[in-house]
Amino acid sequence: MHLIIPATPAEAQTLATQWGNKAVFVAGGTIIQQAWTGPRLAPTDQCFINLMAWPETQQICVDDDYLVLGAQTRLEDVRNHPLVKIHAPLLCTALGQLGALGIRRIGTLGGNICWGVGDTGPVLLVLDAQVLLADDSWQPLVEVLQRHTLPLMLAFRIQRTDRQPPLHTAFEKVGYRAAFTPARVRVAMRWSRAERGTALSHTAAGAPGTPIRRLRHLEQHIAQSGDACTLASIRAACAQDLPMSLTLMVSRLVAGHCGLL
Ligand SMILES: Cc1cc2nc3c(=O)[nH]c(=O)nc-3n(C[C@H](O)[C@H](O)[C@H](O)COP(=O)(O)OP(=O)(O)OC[C@H]3O[C@@H](n4cnc5c(N)ncnc54)[C@H](O)[C@@H]3O)c2cc1C
Repeated sequence: MHLIIPATPAEAQTLATQWGNKAVFVAGGTIIQQAWTGPRLAPTDQCFINLMAWPETQQICVDDDYLVLGAQTRLEDVRNHPLVKIHAPLLCTALGQLGALGIRRIGTLGGNICWGVGDTGPVLLVLDAQVLLADDSWQPLVEVLQRHTLPLMLAFRIQRTDRQPPLHTAFEKVGYRAAFTPARVRVAMRWSRAERGTALSHTAAGAPGTPIRRLRHLEQHIAQSGDACTLASIRAACAQDLPMSLTLMVSRLVAGHCGLL
């Protein structure tokens, strides 16, 4: 097993580029281990790149405009942080439903986002999050998540609540009632008005087999049709963003939150 602890994020990104599809970034390691054939049986042909050696990527702070969340911050630390409660309460709500305490104490925000279907992904997308990469650039997270190979992510930032109009948001997670399995789908929604209804401006969803994405056709449909929207029209729009098995669930959730049921 190759385990490397790079001195800097730039070194980590260079290593990842050199090793190509044999490179694996490791943060909390809770997801990575699921793919191994046994608890101590890490594949020997992969290069594991430890991301937990840089304290600056495990911090949460605010600057003039943004709440900045280090990608390697543990999920439970994100959930309990006073600045997150003020500037991203929807993230605290989602984290309150994420796994058990043991997972939240080991797993990191970056690991959850880069897993591709984690609970925090839709939340950060509806909050228009940006991500800091190893070349020191901030990029829209929604665009970076579409890349074939995900780059090293160092921090996420979202606009402070006191630098924008009030946010009206919701988070839903649907799973099997009595089974210890990953959730079927997670959905985050954002409205431009306190009355909500069809002022829905942002929706994002993710599920096993369906990586996190904004539901752009649905957003466009609601923006154009307004109060003429129905459950059927929302379902048809959702079907352009999601597979049919998810469309049925997500369209009901969205229509319900918009007061259309
Ligand atoms: C029993 C159990 C229950 C769980 N329940 C839930 C749940 O309810 N909801 C939920 O959302 N998740 C759940 N998870 C998944 C868990 O939340 C995530 O595993 C955790 O957030 C991943 O973080 P990590 O730091 O351990 O990631 P890792 O396992 O270290 O990494 C995950 C992936 O992300 C990549 N990666 C990690 N950090 C970065 C980075 N900074 N930049 C680029 N790539 C990176 C890794 O290479 C890997 O591909 C559960 C997991 C377990 C084992």
